[in-house]
Amino acid sequence: MPFPNPALNEPFLLTPGPLTTSEAVKRAMLRDWGSWDEEFRAVTLEIRTRLLAMLDAPEGYDCVPMQGSGTFSVEAMLGSFVPKNGKVLVLSNGAYGQRIAETLAYLGRAHTVINKGDYLPPRGAEISAALQADAAITHVVAVHCETSSGILNPLKEISDAVAAEGRTLLVDSMSAFGAIPLTGVRYAALVSSANKCIEGVPGFGFIIARISELEAAKGRSHSLSLDVHAQWATMNKTGQWRFTPPTHAVVAFLEALKAHEAEGGVAGRNARYTENRDVVVAGMRALGFETLLVDDWLSPIIVTFFCPASPAFDFTRFYELMKQKGFIIYPGKLTVAESFRIGCIGRMDAAIMHRVVQAAGESLATLGVNDASPPQSALIERAKLAAKE
Ligand SMILES: *Cc1c(COP(=O)(O)O)cnc(C)c1O
Repeated sequence: MPFPNPALNEPFLLTPGPLTTSEAVKRAMLRDWGSWDEEFRAVTLEIRTRLLAMLDAPEGYDCVPMQGSGTFSVEAMLGSFVPKNGKVLVLSNGAYGQRIAETLAYLGRAHTVINKGDYLPPRGAEISAALQADAAITHVVAVHCETSSGILNPLKEISDAVAAEGRTLLVDSMSAFGAIPLTGVRYAALVSSANKCIEGVPGFGFIIARISELEAAKGRSHSLSLDVHAQWATMNKTGQWRFTPPTHAVVAFLEALKAHEAEGGVAGRNARYTENRDVVVAGMRALGFETLLVDDWLSPIIVTFFCPASPAFDFTRFYELMKQKGFIIYPGKLTVAESFRIGCIGRMDAAIMHRVVQAAGESLATLGVNDASPPQSALIERAKLAAKE
C-alpha cells in the first residue's frame, strides 16, 4: 500500500474529506455496474455487513446506506428518528452542530441548543441539568468529532448523561466513525459518510441504527428520498437502493473497507491517524505555531492552528506555497482568531506528515515569517474560555 502514489502527481489533501485515497480505491472505479445486477447487490450487502462489523456491539443494529453527501444522511437521520412531536437538545460547538440545529428548523422539529462556542466540549453535568429542566426533550444530538475545530467531544460522557435521563442519543460521527472507537456509547443511530475515515470517495453516507428505531421510523420522514425506513425496507427486500446509487463510489468504498480491515480495523486506523497528528503537532509547534485546543481535546482527525501574528504572514500566499509543495491545507472556521486546519486522515502516514511540516517551514521562510507564534490576544481568549470549562 504505497503512500504517496508516485504515478499520480497530485497534491495530498490535508482536508477532512474528500481526502487522499489509495490507488486501489481509485482503480476500483474503472468499471461500470448495473445497479440492479446481482453482483452489485452483493457489493451493497457486503459494505453494510462490514460497517456493522466495526461496532463493538453490532447486535440489534443495522446499516442503511444513503445517497448524497454526509449532510443528506444527517438530515435523513433527524427526519426519520425524531418524531414530529419530539423535541431535540442539540450539543453544538461548531459549524456542524449549528447545521444540525438549522436542519431541525427546516424539518419543523422543536429543538433547543447548548452552544459551547467555537471549541469547548459539552460536558455531562450541563447536559443532565438541561434534560432535568425540560421533560419535553426526547432526543439529544451530539457531534462526535466537531470537524470545524477538530475537537473530539466526550461522547461516552455525553451518552452516559443522556441514558441516565432516559433520553435517546443520535450521533453525527461523520469524521470519526472507523477511526475512533465507540466503546460504551449508547446510541439509537449514528451517521457517517464514504469519504471520511474509511477513505472512500464522496457520493453517499450511511446510517447505523437500532433495528427497533428503524422499525419505529416507518412513515415518519418528511422526505421521500431521505426516508431511512423506506431505504432500509427496500434494501432488505430487494438488495437494491431505492434510487440510482453512486455505483462507482460504492465499489470504491468496498475496496476502502478491505484496506481498513487489513490495517487492523478501527484500532489500526486510529493508531496511524494518531501518529500523523502527533508528528504534525510536534513539528508545527517546533516552528512556533500553536494549536487552538489543549492536548486533551485534540482529535486524531484534524488540527486547528492559529495563524502567526507576524505581519509578514498571509494565509492565501501560505496556502499557495503549501500547494506548490504538494499539500492542500484547509482554511479555519473560527470566530475568535485567524486560523487554518491540517487534516490527519486519508492515505497518509508519518513520513508524509514530516514533509508537511518541512513544507510549512519553507513556506514561512519564503514569506519572511521568522516567528510563527499567534497573537497574544488569541492565547488570552483561549485561556479565558478554557478556565470557564
Ligand atoms: C463532513 C462532515 C459532515 C457532512 O458534510 P458534507 O459536506 O455534507 O459531506 C457532517 N458532520 C461532520 C462532523 C463532518 O465532518
